[in-house]
Amino acid sequence: MIQLKNVSKYYYSKGVIATGFTKVNLSFHIGEFIAITGESGSGKSTLLNVIAGLDSYEEGEMFIDGGETSHFLEKDWEIYRRKYIGNIYQNFNLINSYTVYQNVDLILSLNGIQKKDRKEKILQLLKQVNMLRYKNTRVSKLSGGQKQRVAIARALAKDVPVILADEPTGNLDKKSAEGIIQLLRDIAKDKLIIIVTHNYEQVEKYVTRKITMHDGRVLEDKVLHEVKEVPLSSSASVVHNMRLFDKIQLGFRNTFNIVPKFLLLMIVYLFINAAIISEYSFFQKAEYEESRSGYNYIFTDLDDHRIVIHKADRTPYSREDIEKVRNLNNIKMVIENDLTTDETFSLTSEDESSWLSVLVRPWDLMNTKDIIGRVPEADNEILLEVPKGDYLFFNQEDVLDKIYYLFDNNTGETNKNLPYKVVGIRHVDSREYTQFIKAYVSDAFLNMIQVNTHQKFSKVTIDFFNEIVSSNVYNPYLKLATNHWVSPGEVFISENENARCDKNNCVGKEITITNQNLYYTESRTFRVQKTYNKKNFGWILDVPEYRDTDFDSLYNGPIYMNPNDYLSLFNKGTYQMSVYVTDIHSIKDTEKKLQDMGNHTLQVRNTLVKSPFSKIIRVIKIIITVGFIFVLFFISYFIIKIIMKSRNVYYSILRMLGSSKKVCLDLLVHELLVVSNLSYFFILLLIELNRRGYYSIGFMNTVNEYFHMNDYIFLYVILIGMSLLISFRYARKIFKDSVMNTYREVL
Ligand code: ADP
Ligand code: MG
Repeated sequence: MIQLKNVSKYYYSKGVIATGFTKVNLSFHIGEFIAITGESGSGKSTLLNVIAGLDSYEEGEMFIDGGETSHFLEKDWEIYRRKYIGNIYQNFNLINSYTVYQNVDLILSLNGIQKKDRKEKILQLLKQVNMLRYKNTRVSKLSGGQKQRVAIARALAKDVPVILADEPTGNLDKKSAEGIIQLLRDIAKDKLIIIVTHNYEQVEKYVTRKITMHDGRVLEDKVLHEVKEVPLSSSASVVHNMRLFDKIQLGFRNTFNIVPKFLLLMIVYLFINAAIISEYSFFQKAEYEESRSGYNYIFTDLDDHRIVIHKADRTPYSREDIEKVRNLNNIKMVIENDLTTDETFSLTSEDESSWLSVLVRPWDLMNTKDIIGRVPEADNEILLEVPKGDYLFFNQEDVLDKIYYLFDNNTGETNKNLPYKVVGIRHVDSREYTQFIKAYVSDAFLNMIQVNTHQKFSKVTIDFFNEIVSSNVYNPYLKLATNHWVSPGEVFISENENARCDKNNCVGKEITITNQNLYYTESRTFRVQKTYNKKNFGWILDVPEYRDTDFDSLYNGPIYMNPNDYLSLFNKGTYQMSVYVTDIHSIKDTEKKLQDMGNHTLQVRNTLVKSPFSKIIRVIKIIITVGFIFVLFFISYFIIKIIMKSRNVYYSILRMLGSSKKVCLDLLVHELLVVSNLSYFFILLLIELNRRGYYSIGFMNTVNEYFHMNDYIFLYVILIGMSLLISFRYARKIFKDSVMNTYREVL
């Protein structure tokens, strides 16, 4: 029994109070078939909504089976609606995008009925309302009468004792209306049916009681047939919690059944995925490039993969030691005796129209993949490793197959005796490229340039007939040079030096040359074998183009010695090496291993001197990136919220059907999770296909290089977080007010 005692309902809107109905005293019993009539605005709908627990009341008390309801919370009303009430509305309130079957199925799954029990029941109900034929038709395609039949089937599905119908035939033609009323009469047995109607004649034949309302009051309450008292609870519908599987299934259905909504959501999610991934990758790229930028006065090859090592005890490396280092994990290459590694050399083109500043590397270290041209073979052939793209106006046509000469940075002269031909070019990406073009050269070339380099990194002193002078590679008069015509243990010196000796003749006298460097000190004594001058320079030292002309340049001073003697002074084995790692991320581990092997290590990237602004710039960049991601997040958040507004009707209907906040939230979460996961894995697939080389877009390459596992997890958390946040806020919004207030708001 439902009983209203002095119940009043007022509407408050925009500061104005309107009366729904006042001081209504009515009791309703199982078995009654009641018609409520009255002119428009007399309070019929309001009364029905209060009875249904869809709207609150302000005064009086409503009793359910004698129990008060004024203390009811929203949760209690939900239970009340689920157990007792079936609603039928003038505008049907069906889910238009669902089929007839799915509409009836919805209410059963909301009430936790098992799938296998649902099917038979739905088919039987559809048969009862004569809609079985249309079970797989979308509701949007049905006529009004057909829709109302589906709505009745839905109201009956739960087996509730009370059916409340608000002008169920209001939108129907006369014939359909008659059919609906008959249908209601057929189900009226053992139920309480209350029909609000304008058209009393339509129902007159069947009703057991007629209530007339006027201006918010009950004008007349005429009982035509008495019924006997049965408590409501004796025929309450049995309800359970909705099953997880059904929630997931509904989530999927809701994701896809409105295609434009799905596409729109998908686009927004794809957009936020792509935007976050690209913004973050480009930030990482900038970070990485920043970490390699900077300069110092020690190293020229500032490759961040490079670790310089020497033995902790400063002894030379044995072959065995070197092999051990080579065989470590994560070692890309090892440059033994790395002094020339940091030397830049200038190559000048034949017509001196162009010059290249290069770092030289031995052929052994050359990567022979994807070479334009060919691999160098002869001693005077070289290959250049240049950055991808038009870098520094570098034009490969201008370089390939061209002749270059070595320009001596110390003397400012071009050595035209030795032409080098560029036979190959290899493009390297920005990560492999470190500020300088690399020239891969023969060992003969390397040996030649090593002579200068060794002296540069050493302190060389000459005991010049009891006068100690220091030799210097920048001082052409007192530097050391090699020549094959000098016998071992002897030197050729410039005639100018004769002034240092008795009778102006130094031939046969001895000089001691000492080389002192970081690792060792080596002294050797040489006998002066010959002196040379401008005129005989070309003959004595066998330089053909100076045989007929005077050697008139700054080069008249060096002390020439046999190349083997030179090596025994300067090249006493490998004391220092440069190790290049493959994976920059584990460079620390590799460094640690090298230290454990008894090496002293130095990561070149840690020696970089940064611009004083770099820290400030970095902070600004971080702020911009984080800000950008935040802005993106909220833009997407609001767009998704707007899209989800189109779901207002759906979720209000769910609520009318007695669905709890938790169920609505779960359905929302599933709906958004399906889209967010789909978009996420779609993007992942695109990136993976790019990685595998199915297509190549510069932007995707950057993503593949700089977006790592952790970042993917981070992105996933953001997406899921956003979906959950929207779901929670949306569910809260839908449930912040009574069902009818929310429903009215969304319409
Ligand atoms: P009926 O269904 O008999 O046509 P209603 O129950 O819809 O009447 O309306 C009863 C009274 O309540 C009317 O005066 C109407 O103006 C008022 N009313 C109904 N709904 C609202 C609302 N959402 N806000 C303010 N007043 C309302
Ligand atoms: Mg009405």
